[in-house]
Parts: sequence; C-alpha cells; structure tokens
Amino acid sequence: ASLGGADAVSGRVRVAVRLRPRNAQELEADADFADCVELQPELKRLKLRKNNWDSDTYEFDEVLTEYASQKRVYEVVAKPVVESVLDGYNGTVMAYGQTGTGKTYTLGRLGDEDTSARGIMVRSLEDIFSNISHETDSVTVSYLQLYMETIQDLLNPANDNISIVEDQKTGDVSLPGATVVDVRDQQSFVELLRIGEAHRFAANTKLNTESSRSHAILMVQVRRSVLGRETDFISENDGSANFVNNFKPSILRKGKLVVVDLAGSERILKSGSEGHMLEEAKSINLSLSALGKCINALAENSAHVPVRDSKLTRLLKDSFGGTSRTSLVVTIGPSPRHRAETASTILFGQRAM
Ligand code: ADP
Ligand code: MG
Repeated sequence: ASLGGADAVSGRVRVAVRLRPRNAQELEADADFADCVELQPELKRLKLRKNNWDSDTYEFDEVLTEYASQKRVYEVVAKPVVESVLDGYNGTVMAYGQTGTGKTYTLGRLGDEDTSARGIMVRSLEDIFSNISHETDSVTVSYLQLYMETIQDLLNPANDNISIVEDQKTGDVSLPGATVVDVRDQQSFVELLRIGEAHRFAANTKLNTESSRSHAILMVQVRRSVLGRETDFISENDGSANFVNNFKPSILRKGKLVVVDLAGSERILKSGSEGHMLEEAKSINLSLSALGKCINALAENSAHVPVRDSKLTRLLKDSFGGTSRTSLVVTIGPSPRHRAETASTILFGQRAM
C-alpha cells in the first residue's frame, strides 16, 4: 500500500458509505416496507430507491453493508490515514450523516466489554501505539467539542472558548488554550475518551442541547524520532578503506490525526424552529456546508480551499490538501421513512469524490 506519498498529494478524498441495520422499531413498524437502499458491495455501488420500480445508482470508494465489522470499517476508512500520520503527514477521518445512523458507533465506541466493538478512535490509537517506539516517540491528545462556533475543551470544561491560531509561516493550526495530554498506552487513552464523553454530556446538559448538535473533535499528534543512517568513508592508516554506518538520531516526523464526529446532518430548519433551536440549526448548516465546499474543492484539486467560512474548516485547515489525507464515511439508515435524509447524505458523499 502506498503511504502518504503519491495519492495523498492528489488531494482526493476517499469516501465510504456505511449502512446500519434496521433497529427493533424499524423491523417492526416498517416490516412491510423495503429498505430505501440496496447495496452492491462487490461493485462498490449503492442503489437508492425512487419508487417500487426505479432506483438511482451511486458509486463510492467503498460500500459497507450492515454486516461490515468494526475491524473492516477501520481498515477501509481509517487505516490508510493512520499509516500516513505515522509517516509524518496530517490526516482527517470524518463521519457525516443524519442523527441515529451510526457516526458515533463508527468512530467513538470504546468496546469495553467486547473489543470487537471498538470504533475508529480506539483502533487508530492502538495502531499508532503498536507502530511507534515508546522510548523516543510521543503521542499527545486533545479532545474538543465545537458548538455554535465555540470550541470547548472536553478534557477541561473550564476552557470553554478556545481560539484557533494559525502559524503565519508554516500554516500549522494550533489551539493554545486546549488541554494536551501525553498518552502512553491504550488504556489511558480509552480513559481519556471516557472523561471527555462525561464532560461533553455535562456541558450539553448545561447548554440544554444534544450531543448530536455539536461536532466532537479528537486531535492526535504523533512525533517520531527516526534514526537516519549515514555511511561515512574512513581511510585507515594502512591505506585501506572502511565504511562505517552512523545512526544519526532525531529526524523528527510530525503527523496529526484529526477524527471528527460531525453534528447530525438532518434538516432541522423547519418552519416553526425559533430562538435557540433556530440559531443552533443555522450554525450546524453553516459549518457543514462550509465543510462540504472545502471537501469539494479538495476533490476537484482546486488551488483554493475556502477554509475561512467556519471554525470547523479553519480547525481542519492544516489537515486539508497538500500531503494530507482525508477519509469520509457517510452513514445511512435503511428505513424508507428517512429516504429524503438518506438521499441528501448520499449526495454529500458523492460531491466529495
Ligand atoms: P449517530 O452518532 O449517527 O447519531 P449512533 O452511532 O449513536 O448514531 O447510532 C444510533 C444507534 O444505532 C445506536 O443505538 C447504535 O448502537 C446503533 N447502530 C449504529 N450503527 C450500527 C451498526 N453498524 N450496527 C449495529 N448497530 C448500529
Ligand atoms: Mg452521535
């Protein structure tokens, strides 16, 4: 597999679609109705039903059925990005879809009792830990929530308005106020995620909102010291020559992995929304449409990626384009009731390719 390198430079976004199984309620209430989609994973195709006779067909980089394991989803969606982060590039993994379609299931599951249930966040760190040197390399983690254009620190609730700073020279994005935790092993990482989730729940209760109305953002910085080999030529006194391998330490490889569990994509700007609900909905619309524009620009290899329009895209600026990799998983449900939302999620994914 090529890591980082050539196809990362092409700037293309990899897009997978994942269908969740019907839940108990959908099995019962919609028993007489067919699913609104039909998947053809070998052909990497999805058919969206228009009516009883007709459907539209879409192609994706990967089509993950309701039978796809968490392991397979990790391998398809995130592993190539994690590998390029280990090589010193930046990368993003994002989940987009209507609330209840499996974004958090895909990214955030801890898999305490059942390790096969672990999601992309936990598997990514596991992969990183098993590929770095624990003596010379470091892994640091920040965990944030972006709500109504405000960034909150999920590892320290006192930091409730973090600003984004961009290095004028390198273009690197940093969050000076955010907690950065040096993580040594899988177990402490899972513990950190758990703490973050608890803080997220508390913050959202206080703000009187749902976690589906904000973006959860995990940032993982990997710094590696790689031994560089230099061969020196040494002439000996007796006139013979020797080649000596010198291992010069500390070629620093810095890669950043950003995993984003996006706010629910459902249209809640219905007539009747007002006040706080309306502001919330507008804010989500703003950031998701700004994200869509950036991903489209990446997909089209456009020289200009319009990152300025939202905090979400400003935060992701140094993970977009250039040598960075972006992987998007769009999550959908099978219920015919949600056909319209499913169609709009599919179109978001299609425009990213
Ligand atoms: P979202 O984060 O998009 O709102 P969730 O990840 O919370 O959605 O999933 C909603 C519900 O569906 C949860 O009960 C979850 O366990 C279940 N679910 C989601 N995806 C799957 C899947 N692939 N297989 C089984 N259950 C799933
Ligand atoms: Mg969720």
